[in-house]
Amino acid sequence: MSDYSATYLLDARTDRTGPVAERDSLRLGFERRLPDAGVAAASVLDELVTLGEPGLLHSGAPTFLGFVMGGAYPVAVATEWLTSLWDQCGALYATSPTASVVEEVVAQWLIELFGLASDTSVGVTTGCAMANLTGLAAARHSVLADRGWDVERRGLFGAPEPRILVSAGCHATVFRAIRLLGMAGQIRVVDTDNQGRMSLHALDRELVASSGPLIVCGQVGNVDTGAVDPVDAICDAARAREGWVHLDAAFGMWAAAGPSVRHQVAGLARADSWATDAHKWLNVPYDCGIVLCARPDAHRAAMRTSAEYLTPATGGSRDPVDFTPDMSRRARSLVLWATLRHLGAAGVADLIDRSCAFARAMAADLARVDGIEILNDVVLNQVLLTFRAREGVSESEHLERVVDALHRGETAWASPTRWRGRAALRLSVCNWQTTAEDVERAVAAVTAAHLLSDVRQTV
Ligand SMILES: *Cc1c(COP(=O)(O)O)cnc(C)c1O
Repeated sequence: MSDYSATYLLDARTDRTGPVAERDSLRLGFERRLPDAGVAAASVLDELVTLGEPGLLHSGAPTFLGFVMGGAYPVAVATEWLTSLWDQCGALYATSPTASVVEEVVAQWLIELFGLASDTSVGVTTGCAMANLTGLAAARHSVLADRGWDVERRGLFGAPEPRILVSAGCHATVFRAIRLLGMAGQIRVVDTDNQGRMSLHALDRELVASSGPLIVCGQVGNVDTGAVDPVDAICDAARAREGWVHLDAAFGMWAAAGPSVRHQVAGLARADSWATDAHKWLNVPYDCGIVLCARPDAHRAAMRTSAEYLTPATGGSRDPVDFTPDMSRRARSLVLWATLRHLGAAGVADLIDRSCAFARAMAADLARVDGIEILNDVVLNQVLLTFRAREGVSESEHLERVVDALHRGETAWASPTRWRGRAALRLSVCNWQTTAEDVERAVAAVTAAHLLSDVRQTV
């Protein structure tokens, strides 16, 4: 695996970006009866590599711009190996003193990077989805405790009904987290502007129409446009009503660590809870998410577990299980420690600023192409564009062809979306390896896919 890894990491720079096999051929390779007799480990690994490679999405390639993914720094990959090798159960201080202490240290580093108060509590989750769930569980605890209701003990039946105002630009996992917390019926969606930012006017309207416990969910880094909700004003409005502000900042949180874009997330530190992840923009392998909470008591109260056989940490030590819904889990703090130690604050700043500069360059170049329209203000690392098609072809048909041509061309990979009723292409720059040259190659590939689709239509 060590030899293979070296080749694989090198290939990622030049190799294709998308899979070359579909479900049927992958199944043909993998599917067999559960073997009665086992096979030698080395053969198994060979087989896995050969059968699995054709179906890989090379999201670690520097010209991969799909979803919001990012690659993996070699130091992070190596630390993931070490994490597996050590196989520490990262639940308690008692199950891994190293994992526990490293998590304490990493928590302080993250707080500093994001510019949050030093007593902010931190949990390391599987991803931002679980971080949203955790942050919102803390919110639920807090707004109900303020009304004298202990939700952890009594549940939700008979509880004072909270009102949850969620930006229409919020990620799907925010809505799902609220649903899993039993509060789907309390959601009121707040309208957004043409960039996907929460409209303050709409927020005011909802606030006037609501009473009781209040939670406001904002988006820092819209998944299509990268837009950031007006966090400062949202916090003012929620504070006036003793409400809790939760922010989904899956990738947007990292803007706080980039000097050139930090102003885009002004006011971020004033929220009550934040959900983000490291497996996207920080370029650590899947999976690694982070929840942060300005009210550590609420955070712990929402996640509290105890059992006779679990030995709680003493003397100020940390039990990671107190901060997330998981119990046994990977010692994910290790990869955070190693990656942040390797990059330093300056390295993180460079990664963030560089990605955003590349996104701006990409948008500027593509805007000059006939028939391409950039739909968003490129405030962070996301570029959203649409294509004006020839007569007789709808925008969505044309986009489908562009995506198809792009993926067949293999140089670059990007994913489609719909934006305010229009078929659009999203480009997300979040890979540590991406260079100015890669940006040029990606722009050329998107342009060629667009022109080719036009030509095919004309023919
Ligand atoms: C990816 C993403 C999520 C979900 O996070 P996971 O890490 O995939 O669990 C939530 N919000 C935004 C804006 C995202 O981009």
